[in-house]
Amino acid sequence: MDGLSKALDIVNPLASLRAVKVDYTPPPRPPVFCPGCPHTASFYELKVATAKSGVKPVFSGDIGCYSLGINNPFNEQDLLTDMGSSLGLGMGLYHGTNGRTMVISIIGDSTFFHAGLPALVNAVYNKTPMLILILDNRVTAMTGGQPNPTSMINIEDIAKAVGVDYVRTIDPFDVKNAQETMIEAMNVVRKGGVAVVVMKRGGCALEATRLFRGGYVTRYYVDPDACKACGICYNLVACPAIVPLENRKAWIDPNMCVGCSVCAQVCPYNAIKPEGNVRDWLKKWAEM
Ligand code: SF4
Ligand code: SF4
Repeated sequence: MDGLSKALDIVNPLASLRAVKVDYTPPPRPPVFCPGCPHTASFYELKVATAKSGVKPVFSGDIGCYSLGINNPFNEQDLLTDMGSSLGLGMGLYHGTNGRTMVISIIGDSTFFHAGLPALVNAVYNKTPMLILILDNRVTAMTGGQPNPTSMINIEDIAKAVGVDYVRTIDPFDVKNAQETMIEAMNVVRKGGVAVVVMKRGGCALEATRLFRGGYVTRYYVDPDACKACGICYNLVACPAIVPLENRKAWIDPNMCVGCSVCAQVCPYNAIKPEGNVRDWLKKWAEM
C-alpha cells in the first residue's frame, strides 16, 4: 500500500493503522458449516444412508459452502475440482471403471445451473447409474447469498423433464425421511437408474436468521439430566453450536443455535429440547 500510495502520490489511508497484538490464542477448530446449515443435515443423512445401504460410493464433490463436507466427520467429497464439475467427473468415473464404481455426485443449486445441468442431460443420455444430490438452499451462499435461477425454475421439474428415473425433493431437516429417500435412491442406482434427490430448504441458515432476527428464531437446549453423554450430537452432527462438556455431556451455545432441530431428531435419549414454537419457526424458514 505504501508503494501504491507513492506511485499515485496520495496519502496512504492505512498509514495510521498498526497491528494490535492480543494475548489470546483461538481454540483449534477445523473449518465447519455454520450452525443450523441445511448442508450439515444433508451430509449427516448421507453418511447414515450409505452406511445402512452397505454401499461404498465415491463422492464426487463440487465447489460451494458444501465443499466443507470434505472434512471430518463427514469425509464425503473424494473429488473436488471446479464449479459444476461433480456430475461430469462422476460420470467419467463410472464409465472409466467399467461400471464398478457407485457414484454419488453432490452439487449446489447455483452450481447446478452454472454447469451441472448439461452433465445431468448426458448422464441420462449415457445411461449412467448415479445418485445426484442437489443441495438447494436457494442462494449462492458461498459468495454472499446472491439469488440464482432456483427462485424461478424448479430443479425437480427439470430433472423429470430430461428423463431422470427417480426424482425426489426432501427437506434436509426431516432427518428420517431424508435418510429413507437417499436409501431408496441408492437402490434405484443399483438397478442401473439415474436418481436425483433435491435437498431443499427455504434458505441458507445465515439468510434465515438475518431475515427473521428478533422474531421467530427458536433455540434448542440440552436437558443435562436426560443427556447420557453418548456424543452422537457433537461427534456426528457436528454443529458448531453443540459443545461437549468435561463430563462429555452436550451443551448448546444459545448464541449460536438457530433452531434447525436436527440434533434433537438425532439424539436417541430425547435430551435436546426446544425453547419456543419450533413448528412456526421451521415453517417460516421453509417458506422464505
Ligand atoms: S438445533 Fe441443534 S443442530 Fe440445529 S443449530 Fe441448534 S444446536 Fe445446531
Ligand atoms: S445425542 Fe443426546 S444423549 Fe447423546 S450427547 Fe447429545 S444430547 Fe447427550
